[in-house]
Amino acid sequence: MKTHNFSIEFFPPKTAEGIEKLRVTRAKLAELKPKYFSVTFGAGGTTQQGTLDTVMEIRREGHDAAPHLSCVGGTHESIRAILSEFKANDIHRLVALRGDLPSGYGMGGEFRYANELIEFIRAETGDWFHIEVAAYPEMHPQARSPQDDLNSFVRKMQAGANAAITQYFYNADAYFRFVEEARKAGVTAPIVAGIMPITNSTQLQRFSEMCGAEIPRWIRLKLASYGDDTASIKAFGLDVVTSMCERLLAGGAPGLHFYSLNQAAATTAIWQRLV
Ligand code: FAD
Repeated sequence: MKTHNFSIEFFPPKTAEGIEKLRVTRAKLAELKPKYFSVTFGAGGTTQQGTLDTVMEIRREGHDAAPHLSCVGGTHESIRAILSEFKANDIHRLVALRGDLPSGYGMGGEFRYANELIEFIRAETGDWFHIEVAAYPEMHPQARSPQDDLNSFVRKMQAGANAAITQYFYNADAYFRFVEEARKAGVTAPIVAGIMPITNSTQLQRFSEMCGAEIPRWIRLKLASYGDDTASIKAFGLDVVTSMCERLLAGGAPGLHFYSLNQAAATTAIWQRLV
């Protein structure tokens, strides 16, 4: 496992209590020795300071950390200022995204798609940053077709991204197929599988509807059958997700990126079964 690219994602906490809880979570997850932690960035810059503060705190604790940066609603000037701040803080790795503004906001800003952000980062900062981008094995929900979405992904890689992290999924075949098609289209960079542990079926259903990730029927029905029995949901989720991770790694996935939702238990349990 140590040869794999294993990373863990947090969101920046909004309250003092959340900050303290994340410190405890991070101390536990740091024992797994991930390659880096990443910290999400609220679209429109809503968490800009929280993202940077969290990244800097993780770095002071001696771990590598990457801020996410989303461009929707941003201007060249505002993104330039953020990149300068990252550089001034000696940050060399970031996850670059378009982001989604809440409905009703329109798109606005000077960037329409993530490939424009990657081009801008490379034009402004050369090779300073190692850039990861998002990939969608089950298609991004706004894409016109899987082929269009693949073309968009290839454009982001050609714009200068170093690697990709996928949206989460529970169907390993979708991942393998996507990687195969990306390779045929000339993408040679690592495509790390994004992993969402299953711990809460209502929350999972809500997230999945928003981001277009499919919960296979058999998993949905099993989860529903457990009702409020959270221990059974967690045990089942652990089995299902661990088996999928094993299959992904055996099938050549270069690594796993865990959407931790600022919780340590599920990621730790999966990871300990994999090593
Ligand atoms: P893009 O690559 O720009 O794609 C968006 C859509 O536009 C796709 O449907 C694509 O097919 C289409 N498209 C792209 N280029 C073109 C073009 N030239 N012409 C026509 N159509 C095009 N969101 C946040 O707000 N903050 C975060 O920190 C964050 N972190 C994330 C981390 C990961 C690993 C992932 C997978 C997602 C994350 N997201 C985050 C969510 C992400 O912002 C949304 O999924 C968003 O809707 C798309 O972002 P993108 O960078 O993939 O966009």
